[in-house]
Amino acid sequence: IFTLFTLTSMNAQNKAHLDKKKPIEERISLLMKEMTLEEKVGQMNQYNGFWDVTGPAPKGGNAELKYEHLRKGWVGSMLTVRGVKEVRAVQKIAVEETRLGIPLIIGFDVIHGYKTLSPIPLAEAASWDLEAIKKSAQIAADEASASGINWTFGPNMDISRDARWGRVMEGAGEDPYLGSKVAVARVKGFQGNLADNNTIAACAKHFAAYGFAEAGLDYNTVDISNSTLYNTVLPPFKAASEAGVRTMMNSFNTLNGVPATGNSFLQRDILKGKWNFNGFVISDWASVREMITHGFAKDEAEAALKAIQAGSDMDMESHIYVAELVKLVNDKKVEVALVDDAVKRILRVKFELGLFDDPYKYCDEKREKATIGNKANNDGVLDMAKKSIVLLKNEGNLLPLKKTGQKIVLIGSLANDKTSPLGSWRIASDDNTAVSVLEGMQQYKGNQLQYEKGTELTIGKTTFLDEVVFNTTDTSGFESAKKAASTADVVIMVLGEHGFQSGEGRSRTNLDLPGNQQQLLEEIYKVNKNIVLVLNNGRPLALPWAAEHVPAIVEAWQLGTQTGNAVAQVLYGDYNPSGKLPMSFPRNVGQCPIYYNHFSTGRPIDSDKNVFWSHYSDVEKTPLFAFGHGLSYTTFGYKNLQIDKLNPSKGETVKVSVDVTNTGNVDGKEVVQLYIRDVTASLSRPVKELKGFELVSLKKGETKTITFNLTDAELGFYNNNGEYLVEAGKFKIFVGTSSTEVLESEFELK
Ligand code: BGC
Repeated sequence: IFTLFTLTSMNAQNKAHLDKKKPIEERISLLMKEMTLEEKVGQMNQYNGFWDVTGPAPKGGNAELKYEHLRKGWVGSMLTVRGVKEVRAVQKIAVEETRLGIPLIIGFDVIHGYKTLSPIPLAEAASWDLEAIKKSAQIAADEASASGINWTFGPNMDISRDARWGRVMEGAGEDPYLGSKVAVARVKGFQGNLADNNTIAACAKHFAAYGFAEAGLDYNTVDISNSTLYNTVLPPFKAASEAGVRTMMNSFNTLNGVPATGNSFLQRDILKGKWNFNGFVISDWASVREMITHGFAKDEAEAALKAIQAGSDMDMESHIYVAELVKLVNDKKVEVALVDDAVKRILRVKFELGLFDDPYKYCDEKREKATIGNKANNDGVLDMAKKSIVLLKNEGNLLPLKKTGQKIVLIGSLANDKTSPLGSWRIASDDNTAVSVLEGMQQYKGNQLQYEKGTELTIGKTTFLDEVVFNTTDTSGFESAKKAASTADVVIMVLGEHGFQSGEGRSRTNLDLPGNQQQLLEEIYKVNKNIVLVLNNGRPLALPWAAEHVPAIVEAWQLGTQTGNAVAQVLYGDYNPSGKLPMSFPRNVGQCPIYYNHFSTGRPIDSDKNVFWSHYSDVEKTPLFAFGHGLSYTTFGYKNLQIDKLNPSKGETVKVSVDVTNTGNVDGKEVVQLYIRDVTASLSRPVKELKGFELVSLKKGETKTITFNLTDAELGFYNNNGEYLVEAGKFKIFVGTSSTEVLESEFELK
């Protein structure tokens, strides 16, 4: 009787926050007044729902406990619940069975599409096409929200310089400027107008420095300078915060000895302090608990204490906040104000999403059916896929392919694979749903096409959670592939990594072609040198032999659902590639980390030519393919680099212009890139830093003048205390088609 009485009385009171006309901040306060400490802590608790939540909870695990907590109002969010039916089932419990009826926010890793998949994020960054990237995130949001989801754990904005790290596939590469622009495009694409029902809250992750795991080993220690932290790691997060990203996820790594989840310097001082971020921070999966294994917290209670003190607002699947925080507050070890602040942030996002106004706004089966996999979304990801392709090398007149009268032999198990091209992080999409390269090539009927597997890339299971295993020895398919290749006009070899060979927990110490693909490549080359190598990979690879011998190399990454169509259209010249590398490709793994925006050593041979005495004795110091490199079926000429002020003052805008001409025979697009070097400063600055780019379409023969504006925002840097400085002195300016092929000029800032 008592419970019944309380329920009814609470129901009468708690309606006030449902008044849509009241401002959100007021609605939050009204609701918080109604909440018990347990209910507040419940909002800070996120559970995984990796089972069919519409059925009974599986016995033996902790699913039953999760249901129980859900009914008590002790769960604020669930992740990996998918599909309207399932989301509705858990939302119904939260809204209709708990005392206050606070809706859940439903999180999901929508990393490069939901079911209709875009290219992996690193590939998308290679487009340097911010509109296309935004559109791709919109498509992902459209499908995910139609499936009940209202929050994605993306975009990943971890800058990384080490291709050994498997999660480079999830980011935008090595550069903080490009990384920031891409991060903002994705945040805007996902979030749009947050109150609409086809947009979702974004999550900037992993805060911070996760991409600097030592030796590219996932989860490893991070020990970087303040300069790297402020100038390289943080800018994309800051840009995302300024663009209004609603959540951030912290990371598994320690940073200078402090786990990110317990790092108040990062989360309280910088993020919520300096940047004034008013969304909420979610821990990474069980990262509150991992502070115990890091040796930073002695038990669960201390982990909870350190995490909340440091500004982690929601606990993903550690089960620690829900178990410990109430007691910590009652024992006066944690101030209730910290809990209140976290809960406010979480509720704010729920209100902004409109969940209190209509908790089932994402639960429309009809829309789900009409949206997922529809033509518009497939067309959209195809467009993104074509834009993501990078033509790395094109000699010998093989590309674009002639459309008739050719015998084309297509080799490689990846060419006939409908799963691997989907890439990693695609939890909602099914295997075998990509258009394979073979299927794409078969659309072109004018040539004779023969397919040969050559070799098997993987053996055993290839799933998100299983290690991918490679067959290194079986050469039984070589002979037949060689025989076919020997009669071909053009041999197309699709080689590279399996889609699940990059991603979380997928670090490598080699950056070669796995298995015996390199051997196959060299064997085929012996019988036919007219090879077009199409690479499928989730990270930069080190392929010096191929770069030297193979006449044409196309970087096709893992391009998602429409892979085969995109590759075929580019190979046949129906789409002129314009992608540029967002990450340097090394000559061998020993060069890692290798990145274009490195510092000058004190031992230059010719610093102007960027040749340094500091070098390896066994390999050229340069990358195999530089940051920003990418060819087209046409050529571009750069002329007339102009700077409007040679002696500008701080605060003035400097205009840099250049004439770019399409000097080839077909229309094309070029990414015009601008780099600066702050020649002398109070701290050493990198030899080059990207500070502007523009994607420009040029008809054959056409010239356009491209103008960049340089302001204090581009010319300054962070000192080791995180203060932004713009210093007088000489600046070199480089404009060109890649980070290495540039015109050069300079000005002196007063
Ligand atoms: C990853 C996150 C991801 C989370 C939820 C973690 O293992 O590091 O990026 O969002 O799992 O799936």
